Amino acid sequence: MPLHSGFRRPPPRCQRARTDATSAAASPLPPAEAVKAHAPYAEPDWQRDALQQSQGAQLACPDCGSCLNYGPRWHARADGTERHYRACKVCGFWQEADGSQPYRVWLPVHTCTIQLRPDQCVFHCPVCSTTTGSEQAGAQITHECGKYLAPWETGYVCRNCSTSLGPRDAKRFQSDGSG
Ligand SMILES: [Zn+2]
Ligand SMILES: [Zn+2]
Ligand SMILES: [Zn+2]
Repeated sequence: MPLHSGFRRPPPRCQRARTDATSAAASPLPPAEAVKAHAPYAEPDWQRDALQQSQGAQLACPDCGSCLNYGPRWHARADGTERHYRACKVCGFWQEADGSQPYRVWLPVHTCTIQLRPDQCVFHCPVCSTTTGSEQAGAQITHECGKYLAPWETGYVCRNCSTSLGPRDAKRFQSDGSG
């Protein structure tokens, strides 16, 4: 399953990402709100980053400079293709590898309550990929559930517990980045 495929293994060293705001003027799109202009990011850039990451490099977020949770990511689409993008979970900097300008995601978080089935001890959350569970089958369990949303996504309904999430539920990122 590709659920964890976008997450990187902990690598040993930190290096600055090469891309920065130097050639932002080349992009045909205006900068997204709350993110400074960045260099266009396209498939060859993503391939380069993915190769460096697979060789153990820890890339730095071009927006906030953190090495803690940034890198090229990928997810399998339903049609069999792969979505390629880069993302920083410290400041919310997100950019598709299609030449478009970056944006800053927001993160609604809630305490998600799940009733395990009578024969079920483990729950793998399809929203946040957290695995939780109980020694007691059929127990009621909770976990903190967060979902990264693009600025144009105004909210969502949790598919586990039907809670409606919106801007009031947004958790602040560790860093404001350039925004
Ligand atoms: Zn960042
Ligand atoms: Zn929920
Ligand atoms: Zn969850």
